[in-house]
Amino acid sequence: NRRLVLRARRDGLPHVGDFAVEHAPMPEPGPGQFVVRNLYASLDPALRQRLTLTDSYVPRIELGEVLTATTVGVVAASRDPAYPVGSHVVGHHGIADYWLTAAGPVTRTIDPSAASSLSHFLSVLGPTGLTAYFGITRVARPRAGETLLVTGAAGAVGSVAGQIARLSGCRVIGIAGGADKAARLTGEYGFDAGIDYRDKTLAGLTAAIRDAAPEGIDLLFENVGGIQLDAAIDCMNERGRIAVCGLISQYNATEPPPPLTNLFKLVARSIRMEGFIVRNYASEYAAAAATLARWVGEGKIHFRESIHDGLEAGPEAFLSLFTGWNQGKVMLRLEPS
Ligand code: NDP
Repeated sequence: NRRLVLRARRDGLPHVGDFAVEHAPMPEPGPGQFVVRNLYASLDPALRQRLTLTDSYVPRIELGEVLTATTVGVVAASRDPAYPVGSHVVGHHGIADYWLTAAGPVTRTIDPSAASSLSHFLSVLGPTGLTAYFGITRVARPRAGETLLVTGAAGAVGSVAGQIARLSGCRVIGIAGGADKAARLTGEYGFDAGIDYRDKTLAGLTAAIRDAAPEGIDLLFENVGGIQLDAAIDCMNERGRIAVCGLISQYNATEPPPPLTNLFKLVARSIRMEGFIVRNYASEYAAAAATLARWVGEGKIHFRESIHDGLEAGPEAFLSLFTGWNQGKVMLRLEPS
């Protein structure tokens, strides 16, 4: 039984050598517990916060501890009748071949036939698809005819968020890094416009947003922060709404971010800005995942996955989230012996 542990922590971008694969004994379930044989493990930007921050919404990982994440797996041994051997589960587990656990708020059994690959339970039918779903439907709350801007738009959450808003009748504009990703927004995800933020100043980005949305932005789905958020606020209409999903540009920052020059426009234009965490909606995951599965089946939502093989690939795969090298939901495929 192998597992991925934290060896060192640092400010700034983590190093591959900050993580290690360790061997551990095979766990045995006690009463009410079960052992999951992990098949896929999600690698999320939030894991970066958990390496150093002590005041985030998730507990810090201590040195020597196993990294935890959402995984999909199959129950290998069980003393909980609700999770029988052979059933498929999604939950918050160690990034390990086998993991001893018990039922928790985000644990659920899944029907593997609901998707063409189990990996989809970590991407469009899992935490990232669900984040997009609840962030758009509960926080941004789009109305037909409105214009939505998504930052981090070619990523796992952003690409789905934009497509869900389009299904609500919005005009959707996305910002992503590089010409290829910007082109993918319109070509693959059906957005109305895509903007490449690389090499753009605050003024350049603001001009590009105004160009793509001359009528202004009503809704912002924010994944990035920094000058992307600043430029977007400048382009927002009266009574606009901002759903703050993440601020990835700050996760490895070693200096405080520069102040938002347009912040007062929230006051002047009566703009609502609201953060959210997907697990606030844990009791509704199954119903939302069923809706997402239907949209995927109907060809209304497209998504990409960046799947890496083996625990050893974990550190590089994780770091790809911060270089933009990933092309969709980043995860590990595990094949325990
Ligand atoms: P993505 O698939 O979007 O991958 C991360 C992307 O972020 C990269 O591909 C890169 O895209 C962009 N990026 C990375 N570093 C920077 C930077 N310094 N400046 C600008 N862009 C950067 O990841 P996810 O879809 O998993 O996550 C997207 C966001 O959603 C994150 O902020 C994450 O924290 C948040 N999140 C929030 C949740 C919640 O419950 N609130 C739950 C899950 C995720 P590019 O190449 O375009 O630059």
